[in-house]
Amino acid sequence: MDSDDKKTIKVSRHKMPEQKPDLRVTNFKEVPLGYTREMAVAEAKRCVQCKKPGCVTGCPVDVNIPAFIRLIAEGRFVEAAQAIKKTNALPAVCGRVCPQEDQCEKNCILGKKGEPVAIGALERFAADYERKTGEITIPEKAEPNGKRVAIVGSGPSGLTIAGDLVKLGYDVTIFETMHKPGGVLVYGIPEFRLPKEIVDAEVAYLVKLGVKIELNSLIGRIKTVDELLAEGFDAVYLGVGAGAPVFMNIPGEYLNGVYSANEYLTRVNLMKAYNFPEYDTPILRGKNVAVVGGGNVAMDSVRTALRLGAQNATIIYRRTEEEMPARAEEVHHAKEEGVQFRFLTNPLEYIGNDAGWVVGARCQRMELGEPDESGRRKPVPVADSDFVIPVDIVIVAVGTMANPIIPATTPGLKTNSRGYIVTQDDHGRTSRERVYAGGDIVTGSATVILAMGAGRMAAQAIHQSLSGR
Ligand SMILES: Cc1cc2nc3c(=O)[nH]c(=O)nc-3n(C[C@H](O)[C@H](O)[C@H](O)COP(=O)(O)OP(=O)(O)OC[C@H]3O[C@@H](n4cnc5c(N)ncnc54)[C@H](O)[C@@H]3O)c2cc1C
Ligand code: SF4
Repeated sequence: MDSDDKKTIKVSRHKMPEQKPDLRVTNFKEVPLGYTREMAVAEAKRCVQCKKPGCVTGCPVDVNIPAFIRLIAEGRFVEAAQAIKKTNALPAVCGRVCPQEDQCEKNCILGKKGEPVAIGALERFAADYERKTGEITIPEKAEPNGKRVAIVGSGPSGLTIAGDLVKLGYDVTIFETMHKPGGVLVYGIPEFRLPKEIVDAEVAYLVKLGVKIELNSLIGRIKTVDELLAEGFDAVYLGVGAGAPVFMNIPGEYLNGVYSANEYLTRVNLMKAYNFPEYDTPILRGKNVAVVGGGNVAMDSVRTALRLGAQNATIIYRRTEEEMPARAEEVHHAKEEGVQFRFLTNPLEYIGNDAGWVVGARCQRMELGEPDESGRRKPVPVADSDFVIPVDIVIVAVGTMANPIIPATTPGLKTNSRGYIVTQDDHGRTSRERVYAGGDIVTGSATVILAMGAGRMAAQAIHQSLSGR
């Protein structure tokens, strides 16, 4: 490390401005506000342009991080966005929701003695700049090759493979069961973390490239995978996610006022229940809201409940803060906004009133025992420790699982014991010829960037197979 590098470390990381907690809990607008040009340039100048950049090793889609950061430092913002887009089709999304602290930023050399470069914030800046200035260029496309590919699901994985294949000259059609494309990016992650206009812009870009999207099309119901192949699609990619809700199977889960996080967030985000009466989607607004779980989905649910007027919005989590899988930034934001946390607590049953509405959650205290198969210490119940928390809404965010409709209607498609599609390699080849899969439906609930990475790998495999190379 030379003396210039040492100077860089001394410059602290530039914090992105954000809405103040007391204001932001009253609206659904985005919390972090993004860098100004000056901040972005100053932050980019912190990067020491490592010859062997650890940050790139930590990026699942191999973004050339030092290259795009250098372009920002030189004020060449649109070129920076184009550099990211060479390997990442959704930079404005990833700049907002990727767990950078566990990926690129974790490996940044500056993090060894100080704070890592704010790679995510810079990625977001470049993508937003390109979108806002309208300087979006359409990349060169190969000549149409006459081959057709059907993509089932328009989440990050389906969108990524669609973009890669259309650029290679394929005729690409996405089939999506919802009335809006984007998958979890539109129905799961709330507006205050990922404004929908950003996802809409990314989808519009793909449509401009030539991707066709058939909405309200549930494959397995309107037609099967085999029918798609028989119709003339040369390959089918299954990027259907793992969105089926999971409950804990404890008494009282069917009381009024108990939601799955999936239903709660879909009503609020995709069906815009927060925008009542402009959108006529009913949603319960409770005073005492408890959310069960410790992941991103739980954080999104509890922060949504606060914005819908909850006075006490509480996370119930059976381990401690240390084991919580949610991104550190989400937990930090939730705390700032006044979310209460009951760690080492597990619900045993929900108590209802005579009219069938939930009024309480009977919980028990837990303590941490030996590590389980996930490596995290296992929560063990403390005897005779039951107590009741008053609630009018409970949101269960303890995970999701695969929807069985595609495997049930695709003979010979191999799944594992949990219903996820089995692939033969990380290029997404399944047990059925010409059928590929990737994203959450293969890995179980994971991350946006991993789902995108799976889409890219499958695009390569499909191209290799269909171009006879
Ligand atoms: C609330 C929430 C918050 C999250 N926060 C983060 C975060 O901050 N950072 C992060 O990296 N990850 C986060 N994740 C995880 C991330 O969103 C997922 O890992 C990612 O979206 C998976 O992408 P996918 O393309 O595999 O599936 P999905 O995004 O689930 O998309 C699948 C699509 O397929 C459609 N579909 C399903 N079945 C069919 C069918 N039979 N026919 C037609 N269409 C079908 C679905 O409607 C959906 O649109 C979060 C998830 C949730 C639920
Ligand atoms: S590791 Fe950090 S300092 Fe080095 S190139 Fe990557 S972002 Fe820049």
